[in-house]
Amino acid sequence: MTTSTSPGPKGTVPEPPPVNVAPQARSDGAAGLRAVADTVRAAYGDDALLTDRQQLRTYECDGLAAYRVVPGLVVFGRTTEQVATAVRACHEHGVPFVARGSGTGLSGGALPHAEGVLLVTAQMRDVLAVRPEDERAVVQPGVINLEVTGVAAPHGYYFAPDPSSQQVCSIGGNVAENSGGAHCLKYGFTTNHVLSVEMVTPQGDVERLGTVAPDAPGYDLLGTVVGSEGTLGVVTEATVRLVRRPEAVRTLLAGFESTDAAGAATSAIIGAGVLPAAIEIMDGLAMEAAEAAVHVQYPAGAGAVLIVEVDGPAAEVEAEFDQAIRLCEESGAVAIQVAADDTERALIWKGRKSAFAAVGRISPDYIVQDGVIPRTALSEVLRDMKRLADESGVRVANVFHAGDGNLHPLVLFDGGRQGETERAEEVSAQILALCLAHGGSITGEHGVGSDKAKHMPKMFTADDLDTMQLVRCAFDPGGLANPGKIFPTPRLCGERPGRGTGPHPLQQAGVAEVF
Ligand SMILES: Cc1cc2nc3c(=O)[nH]c(=O)nc-3n(C[C@H](O)[C@H](O)[C@H](O)COP(=O)(O)OP(=O)(O)OC[C@H]3O[C@@H](n4cnc5c(N)ncnc54)[C@H](O)[C@@H]3O)c2cc1C
Repeated sequence: MTTSTSPGPKGTVPEPPPVNVAPQARSDGAAGLRAVADTVRAAYGDDALLTDRQQLRTYECDGLAAYRVVPGLVVFGRTTEQVATAVRACHEHGVPFVARGSGTGLSGGALPHAEGVLLVTAQMRDVLAVRPEDERAVVQPGVINLEVTGVAAPHGYYFAPDPSSQQVCSIGGNVAENSGGAHCLKYGFTTNHVLSVEMVTPQGDVERLGTVAPDAPGYDLLGTVVGSEGTLGVVTEATVRLVRRPEAVRTLLAGFESTDAAGAATSAIIGAGVLPAAIEIMDGLAMEAAEAAVHVQYPAGAGAVLIVEVDGPAAEVEAEFDQAIRLCEESGAVAIQVAADDTERALIWKGRKSAFAAVGRISPDYIVQDGVIPRTALSEVLRDMKRLADESGVRVANVFHAGDGNLHPLVLFDGGRQGETERAEEVSAQILALCLAHGGSITGEHGVGSDKAKHMPKMFTADDLDTMQLVRCAFDPGGLANPGKIFPTPRLCGERPGRGTGPHPLQQAGVAEVF
């Protein structure tokens, strides 16, 4: 995958590296797709693929239904070899391919390519090993997030990354998106819980990245692949870390007059040195939606609720939990409910985790936005967001991971009403601009995908983006793996970075080269 030239003997100038002429332009089009279909069918039979247009439409979008493209062909990967055969055929015929797990992504990352293959890994559902003695499990990419916890639980372990979609999203998707969740504040994102992956490269080779040893020499290629949104290859197996179940868990739900007050309580708790396992805020609109769906009975009159969960050794948890209660009271909590048992804790989390879907009960359409700000800017950004909503007349519900400043504004609209979609999209874009203005990011955990590619230049310079492209090209010089995602404009690997104005600064500095 690397193509650097070795330096010449001292005093001589090494030969310039050959410029790669990417095979991207050499797509065989419809004939290529037919050739891939024939290869897969011949090797694995008719039920390894879909070609019927009606059936293909089932896969036209992921969780972001605003973008729809009917794939040219759907191939089901059931084994690593099957995935490798399909990818090799794509490589041979210049056919783009898009990996898809459960299709719950919210940034259009698994949006199909009209002339490409949608490679579905959802049927690779085997848990290959559970090794509590090594605190790890080996799973295929289609295994559902919560199933990993399910197989680890009898041994006293669980899988820590917990996206709200954990009942349906797949480990392959989690790895590709570097997914997070409420408990990632304390335990870290998916990247902190993946020890190694088996991956089919865009050329169709099977490679293993990472190591089960604590550290590996050389470049962190595993770290590069985690979060790369299917643009560097197809993950066919993952070795994930299992975390020991904590001795004690305490959960509270505190009502506040406003999100401002709830935000202040968050800062007070973390500022006091308490690191909760999770600390989440829901505003009035989000509570209204969740209440309609799962009847949590939020404190009457509260304009926002804060959920605080503390876990760890029992003695430490008791002390920290008492401290969290006191700090909520001092920050103006109007009510505090403490979960008495697992059932009450589960109800609190059910309300929080169902909030996205529940918003459908109070609005026909909504955009799930995902941005990050420094936690200390929470109050200011939430106030600015409210001003945006008031001025535009577009309602914005907020439910978010307050501890790490990961916002999930839900922009509500009625697509059936003239101009509302455009207004909602405008507000949604302005919210991202707010995040950036406060030193934040255009995405916290849902990825860039198709949806946010256009926002990347607001966060990164052209040189930054070119440098990222060099990394991508090292894996996928043909540009066949999930093309059109992440980057605002597709650039061929053979193209000279720097928008035609000269060599890339990294080339000038002698630390990178076009290959
Ligand atoms: C109600 C709801 C709540 C959500 N809550 C959260 C949350 O709290 N935190 C969070 O982070 N996300 C959340 N998400 C987003 C989504 O569930 C995650 O991004 C999840 O990891 C996607 O997994 P998936 O299997 O559905 O992947 P898909 O949607 O199928 O694909 C997502 C991306 O991964 C790539 N991909 C999939 N499988 C592979 C593979 N085997 N190899 C290489 N690339 C692959 C795809 O090409 C695509 O780019 C939520 C979504 C919904 C609908």
